[in-house]
Amino acid sequence: MTIEFEPPEPVVQARTVLQTVAEEMMRSHSRYFDEDEHAIPWDYIEFMHTAMKSMGGGSLAPKEEKPNGHNGDGSKPRPPIGYQLLASQIETLAWGDVGMYLITPGGGLGAAAVQAAATPEQKAKFLARFGGEKPTFASMSMTEAGAGSDTAAIRTRAVLDEQTNEWVLNGEKIFVTAGDKSLTEYEKLGRGFVVVWASIDPKAGRAGMRGFVVESGTPGLRVVKLEHKMGIRVSDTATLSLQEVRVPLDHLLGSPTVEQTTEGFKGAMATFDATRPLVAASGLGVARAALEFLKQKLAESGVQIRHGVPRQKLSNVEREVIDMEIMWKSAWLMVIKAVWMADNKKPNALESSMCKVKAGDVTTKITQRVVEILGPLGYSREFLAEKWFRDAKITDIYEGTGQINRLIVARQILGYSGHELR
Ligand SMILES: Cc1cc2nc3c(=O)[nH]c(=O)nc-3n(C[C@H](O)[C@H](O)[C@H](O)COP(=O)(O)OP(=O)(O)OC[C@H]3O[C@@H](n4cnc5c(N)ncnc54)[C@H](O)[C@@H]3O)c2cc1C
Repeated sequence: MTIEFEPPEPVVQARTVLQTVAEEMMRSHSRYFDEDEHAIPWDYIEFMHTAMKSMGGGSLAPKEEKPNGHNGDGSKPRPPIGYQLLASQIETLAWGDVGMYLITPGGGLGAAAVQAAATPEQKAKFLARFGGEKPTFASMSMTEAGAGSDTAAIRTRAVLDEQTNEWVLNGEKIFVTAGDKSLTEYEKLGRGFVVVWASIDPKAGRAGMRGFVVESGTPGLRVVKLEHKMGIRVSDTATLSLQEVRVPLDHLLGSPTVEQTTEGFKGAMATFDATRPLVAASGLGVARAALEFLKQKLAESGVQIRHGVPRQKLSNVEREVIDMEIMWKSAWLMVIKAVWMADNKKPNALESSMCKVKAGDVTTKITQRVVEILGPLGYSREFLAEKWFRDAKITDIYEGTGQINRLIVARQILGYSGHELR
């Protein structure tokens, strides 16, 4: 058996194309959209929608692939690479601007939840819209004021109205990424949706959790607040209010019966298994941007990083840069392993949380150290280093904080349940 570390050709090609987008449509506007927090980069959104449509879809989501099979386009059989491709694309876009990447049109976290928890009919119904005429967004809302890391504590309720055969949702969700773009009716955008996690039976705890697709324009669903944030400021983060929101029966993702299983909760966790490596990839894009900038500034002042020279002969700054490169590469290899497992339909809860923990640490450390080494240049708003430092921290917060993902890793390795180790 051979181990192949070269990225497959489609990954290389996509990176090359997206690198230009990242440089010309993202990086060059980064500061503007950081300063003008809730301005919307329509040029980027519309360009990406057109580009993704021309590639056969309306979002970056991986296409269904058959393991080791033909992919229906006449190309030679090859192992599936959908998630690997996506991780690489996201890393490149985040190198351009991670906040702008988060408002790349398409399904985002909302579609990831549908992919993880929906029936095939629901997937066909809800995911088709991203390839339509207008850019369209979807979001996912789990977090509530009293339920962040402890997702089982959600209080949003869904009750079946047997007279009308509709689910009626009530509650408030906070910190919903792209909540505004998926739900506010901008003329330039198509009709989006949010996947709302709610309980259909609070006594059943996790077994009672279900995801519901709530479409924009549904009466009773409102965006009530947009956060002002430290980083990723161009990405909208919304508070949603749900008051007597009615959705059809088949908007509940998966099965409505509450058996003594945790199917609904598993759907939520499966979403995170798929998306944590992608969050890790986005953080690593920011870290690479910072590290490359540091090397460029060092080179401009006559400091070249010498690889292959004994460590004791290197200057301190050379050692630091090389250490950061090592950290970055080891985190990236962990991402690649997690997405390879996702592509090959292997359970990857452990690898997914592990790479997120590692990337969260690495991204935070690299951007912080770059700011420090650059001195006043690092702290000045004239350069983007300070912005990358602010943007980096979110890698360690959403989709499970560093602490929570460490707990998940420990449980997986030691064989403890959530009740036994918390
Ligand atoms: C910009 C942004 C975008 C977001 N986007 C989304 C989104 O799209 N959808 C969504 O549903 N949510 C989203 N979130 C919410 C995010 O997932 C939560 O903030 C995160 O899960 C942590 O929850 P919390 O903020 O309630 O913190 P808490 O759970 O209150 O935790 C506070 C601190 O305590 C630590 N902690 C908690 N429990 C333990 C434990 N058992 N052991 C050790 N330490 C612990 C945490 O690690 C953290 O450091 C977003 C958040 C931000 C900031």
